[in-house]
Amino acid sequence: MTKRIALAQLSSCWGCDQSLVDLHLKLLDVLPELEIVYWPAVVDFKMKDLEALPKGSVHIGMVEGSCRTNEDVHLLKVMREKSKILVAWGSCSAYGGVQGLGNQWSLKELLDRKFMEADTITDARIPDKYLPGFTEVVQANPAIVRFEAAVPGCPPTSDNTLEALSALITGSPYDLPDKTVCDQCPKVREDKRITKFHRTHEGKIDPDRCLLDQGYLCLGFATIGLCGAQCPTVNTPCKGCFGPPPSIKDHGAKIISALGAIADMDPEELKEAFPDPIGSFYFTDFGASYLSKIKQKGRKSGK
Ligand code: SF4
Ligand code: SF4
Ligand code: SF4
Repeated sequence: MTKRIALAQLSSCWGCDQSLVDLHLKLLDVLPELEIVYWPAVVDFKMKDLEALPKGSVHIGMVEGSCRTNEDVHLLKVMREKSKILVAWGSCSAYGGVQGLGNQWSLKELLDRKFMEADTITDARIPDKYLPGFTEVVQANPAIVRFEAAVPGCPPTSDNTLEALSALITGSPYDLPDKTVCDQCPKVREDKRITKFHRTHEGKIDPDRCLLDQGYLCLGFATIGLCGAQCPTVNTPCKGCFGPPPSIKDHGAKIISALGAIADMDPEELKEAFPDPIGSFYFTDFGASYLSKIKQKGRKSGK
């Protein structure tokens, strides 16, 4: 018997949907098992089609993106109501994604920056129509509704999505591994002390040695190993886009504490090396961080 699947898109870039489409012929491994009842990114379904489905009638609900608008929150809650197994698909969904970096500022500050202050603005005003209602902050979706599984990544690899779908269709759990990108990386790591960080275009990378040991900010040590270490394998430092493994509760905090332990540098040098620490250490998961929650609490209490 086929299983009903719904694939919803909240505020996002469509990259996770693309990773599924990128399966090409491998999609045939799972497509015959599935009846697609909602996938507006690819087929012309409307919200009313999803809303009309009976509660709990969707076997697997895949949610891409995070809630930046009130309509996103509504769609997420409808997906929860209709789905037996809800999957946080991609780092936007699992952790808030890149758009969570906006939590460094209040919604008013973001709107002012976008419509009043940006250098390219010629008619400085907040539009009085056609703007959706925005959420005050971007959170990880599992902070809003219950999820049964997560497939993180920005985007997840096509194979990650296929593995998750194949398991969930048969009723098997899809659990995340507690391993890191370093565990999948072929480079030799010697845990060297770092006296200077380099930008990726600076110096000459030794392709056999760990990039972090060479002073390039590679976050593989704190990032879940699901992608096959695809960036360090081609000499590009890991930016941490898959978020942390299950045993690490706060990705950026882990990165900062680890760097503090291995960097022989004073605070001023570190500040100069990382002019955008939140962007560097919480690339896709600031929305799920303790720091974001503390900031939000401070705003609410007027601090
Ligand atoms: S997780 Fe990354 S690829 Fe997927 S929708 Fe978000 S930004 Fe796009
Ligand atoms: S290059 Fe990056 S991923 Fe590879 S071992 Fe070093 S820190 Fe880990
Ligand atoms: S190596 Fe790091 S940045 Fe690259 S895809 Fe994997 S998790 Fe993302």
